[in-house]
Amino acid sequence: MVSDSTAQPLREAVIDTDAITANTRTFGALTSTPILAVVKANAYGHGAVRTARAALAGGAVMLGVTDLSEAFELREAGITADILSWLHAPGTRFERAVAERITIGISTLEQLSAAIDAGSVANPARVHLKLDTGLSRNGLPPEDWDEAFAVALHARQAGVLDVDGLFSHVSNTSDADDRAALAAFLDGVERAAAIGIRPRLRHIAATAAAIGLPDTRLDLVRIGIGLHGLSPDPDKFRAAELGLRPSMTLRGTVANVRRVPAGTGLSYGYAYRTERETTLALVPLGYADGIPRQASNRAPVRIGDAVLRVSGRIAMDQFIVDVGDAPVAVGDEVVLFGDPAAGDPAVEAWADAADTINYEIVTRIGGRVPRREVTDGATA
Ligand SMILES: *Cc1c(COP(=O)(O)O)cnc(C)c1O
Repeated sequence: MVSDSTAQPLREAVIDTDAITANTRTFGALTSTPILAVVKANAYGHGAVRTARAALAGGAVMLGVTDLSEAFELREAGITADILSWLHAPGTRFERAVAERITIGISTLEQLSAAIDAGSVANPARVHLKLDTGLSRNGLPPEDWDEAFAVALHARQAGVLDVDGLFSHVSNTSDADDRAALAAFLDGVERAAAIGIRPRLRHIAATAAAIGLPDTRLDLVRIGIGLHGLSPDPDKFRAAELGLRPSMTLRGTVANVRRVPAGTGLSYGYAYRTERETTLALVPLGYADGIPRQASNRAPVRIGDAVLRVSGRIAMDQFIVDVGDAPVAVGDEVVLFGDPAAGDPAVEAWADAADTINYEIVTRIGGRVPRREVTDGATA
């Protein structure tokens, strides 16, 4: 998005790519395992291309996305690293994926046939077979594993298919459930090996398992939320204690200030009324920007040194903060969330206020919020 550099932005998400690079290195050191950087969904709102580049600079060996369109976007940006894409529309043809060297995650026998159709001896289709081991989402169900392995073996022998990986995903229900999923996966790996399929990469862990269940690390860990310095389970793992640093700061500029008497109703439904004469600051972010309306009257913001609360309902484009007698002026910075180590509210405070998880808060930040890239605090 083009912005006038002389005007203060109404709103922006500042993305610290050095934090992403450092967080990637931290996961490399913590897990001693190669890292697949998950950059699906615009890298959870942080920008897929910049996050991919920053993670590769931090040592990630591979990228992961959901849709093929996300993989093509990375290729169009000139990124040549291996990319795995794992969720496909019914009837998808994989010719372009094969031509662009995208690794295809296979969750159905139909997808396997389509990949084989798209492969050739000159350019075999590279696949990772996804085994469902409990989540009951995508992934080949166990009753299809043996047929998939047999079909894959045949195509590999014909030279049109490269079975580069086997993978699964855990539910984060409990350590016991995740160990059961791992055992089911390793059983699948053995069944594949028994007929002669021994892929280079076996992977099952996302951020939570990569931190908490070392046995799940295998040949690759798929790190998404952790790249952005956020914990997959803040009750269990504290991001700062793991040496991680949040990569997104969401900020706005106070767009209006008013002094109002006691008893003034604020925003729709007058869900907040002032208790005394006070100052109101208008913040130009709303649910159109991904600010959850459910956090109305609850979520924290920092203005200057004061951490205050959203006062009244969050509207589509704006919300109000009752700042009391604090000397707030039009043009002042308002930080919704950022690095708690720097005194900013944590993403998790917004997640709690909206009864959701940190993943959803950052991922839903909308397209109207310009992303501004910085490196160690300096504009890139
Ligand atoms: C989103 C996703 C990940 C990354 O999960 P995090 O908890 O963000 O690390 C890994 N693997 C798959 C299959 C995913 O869909």
